Amino acid sequence: MLAADHTRLADDINAVEKLGAQWLHIDIMDGHFVPNLTFGPQTVADLRPKSKLFFDVHLMLDNPQDYIEAFISAGAEQVTIHVEPDYNITATLRRIRELGAKPGIVFNPKTECQAIEPYLDEIDIALAMTVQPGFGGQVFDESVLAKTALLNQWRNERGLNFRIQVDGGINIDTARQCRAAGVDTFVAGSAFFKAEDRNAFLNEIQALD
Ligand code: ZN
Repeated sequence: MLAADHTRLADDINAVEKLGAQWLHIDIMDGHFVPNLTFGPQTVADLRPKSKLFFDVHLMLDNPQDYIEAFISAGAEQVTIHVEPDYNITATLRRIRELGAKPGIVFNPKTECQAIEPYLDEIDIALAMTVQPGFGGQVFDESVLAKTALLNQWRNERGLNFRIQVDGGINIDTARQCRAAGVDTFVAGSAFFKAEDRNAFLNEIQALD
């Protein structure tokens, strides 16, 4: 959603929905954990009645535990929180589930995937950032592929069924590499909105196996 035109968000989102996308990935930034600011729960609440997409909210916040209720009340169906800040992660993941949303954990490219290992039983999705969040124009970090492959191995060995998602610098080529490394869920922003044929872009990503 970051890559959409924010003066006409509902139009861009409806266009995405008509093409057959299933999820809307909503990036929330606080100006602390990441240098950028985006928007708050009110924007999510305003968009909720205008779309049937699954609202996948990625909180890039220092204190996500203070905001999960507001975003879930606003219509978030999944809330993903970072492993890097210092707060009670297990309690926050459990609270997200209690409030009726799916909990997810996310880690930055510089963070080892072992950091999220203690939470794998609590989550519906593990998100691997493939760029450092909050900075524009970055390239896909290939070192993440080994981490998603390890997550996929843990998922299989332990009989877990969380999704593995990637976010940042995703285009057809990087999506294909990620798919081969265990990833099943892709966030595509600028590559989608800049594609000459958005329908073909979406179909190609959805057809990866
Ligand atoms: Zn995101």
